Amino acid sequence: MAGLADLWIRNVRPMGGETGDILIRDGRLVSLGATPEAPPGITVLEGGGKLALPGLVEAHTHLDKNMLGLPWYRNHVGPRLIDKIDNERAVRKALPIDPRRQSARQVALSLSHGTTHIRTHVDVDTDCGVSGIEGVLATRAAFADVIDIDLVAFPQSGLLVRPGTLALLEQALRLGAETVGGLDPCAIERDPKGHLDAVFGLAERFGRGVDIHLHEPGEMGAFSMELIIERTRALSMAGRVMISHAFCLGTPDPALVEPLIAALAEAGIAIMTHGRPSGPVPPVVRLAQAGVVVCAGSDGMRDTWGPYGNGDMLERAMLIGMRNNLRRDDELALAMEMVTTGGARALGLAEYGLAPGCWGDLVLLEAETLAEAAAQHPGQRVVVKRGRVVAEGGQVADFVAGLAS
Ligand SMILES: [Zn+2]
Repeated sequence: MAGLADLWIRNVRPMGGETGDILIRDGRLVSLGATPEAPPGITVLEGGGKLALPGLVEAHTHLDKNMLGLPWYRNHVGPRLIDKIDNERAVRKALPIDPRRQSARQVALSLSHGTTHIRTHVDVDTDCGVSGIEGVLATRAAFADVIDIDLVAFPQSGLLVRPGTLALLEQALRLGAETVGGLDPCAIERDPKGHLDAVFGLAERFGRGVDIHLHEPGEMGAFSMELIIERTRALSMAGRVMISHAFCLGTPDPALVEPLIAALAEAGIAIMTHGRPSGPVPPVVRLAQAGVVVCAGSDGMRDTWGPYGNGDMLERAMLIGMRNNLRRDDELALAMEMVTTGGARALGLAEYGLAPGCWGDLVLLEAETLAEAAAQHPGQRVVVKRGRVVAEGGQVADFVAGLAS
């Protein structure tokens, strides 16, 4: 495997703890703490007392349709979800959104902030077919040595409501997408049983996980969530199903929400949030207390849906902290967990973390504590992937910049 390197990182503080050294051999962490002697000829990185985190995990974004580096998109889109979906599908034909080029731009941006693992949903529909999947797969291949990317085949415009989409999802899985996506079984598909049977049917047939965008509010969202939980249990898919957004869990009604939280924990379903400031969001503290794996994503970034986002998962931790009123250091530790180990658990990443035997994926930054890293999300980071420095000071390394071409 290319891209596996040896690196001796001196004077860093893993997770904000005691200062020590980290030794990476063949791309994996070998030791943390004092290193008895420098292996001859090894590359040395002076950490200068920086805080060391495992590589950040972007658990939900849309690499195929950002508009980074393109003229500003003047957004005059209507307020409903379906307005955004229909607008995007219509204008995408006229805009120069090449999924390969745009995904490469976002990958480089995310790497510069310290993200070493990405799950991306990629649109599959009867207009664009699997061209988005093919573009992002090309980017994944080009950047394989410097970042891990997991693709969700995502029926953004609906599944059964647009005949032909199911066959395209199947094609996307055969091409290399890992995970089966789904979307608002009631509100968009208007056929919750049909939609979820199709999604979980594909997952069962191909032996894949499931990740469903669930924007539906209140009782409607709770109903769809129950159907997802039923199917996860029936197919013994604990640890392989994620519900993204799950806004219905933000309903201020414990009688509705508490049984759902207990069932999610029991079924082993992870919840992803981007901490939106403009409506109900899943209560991450309560979910974590109940044993539900919680993780974070940027969602869409500077696209036809909205103008925001920069791919910085530490800034995302801050936004989630603000939205959930996390102030104390022990509370902000949860936000940091969501952008690191929580994301890794939700995505089923093996050998992730700061422990011997794990991959040598790290980000070093100037912060005293984990809470400061989230709240202030300082820049000037050093990013290491499998023992190689891939970004520094907000810029990817020259060899990484060259991978896109
Ligand atoms: Zn999304």
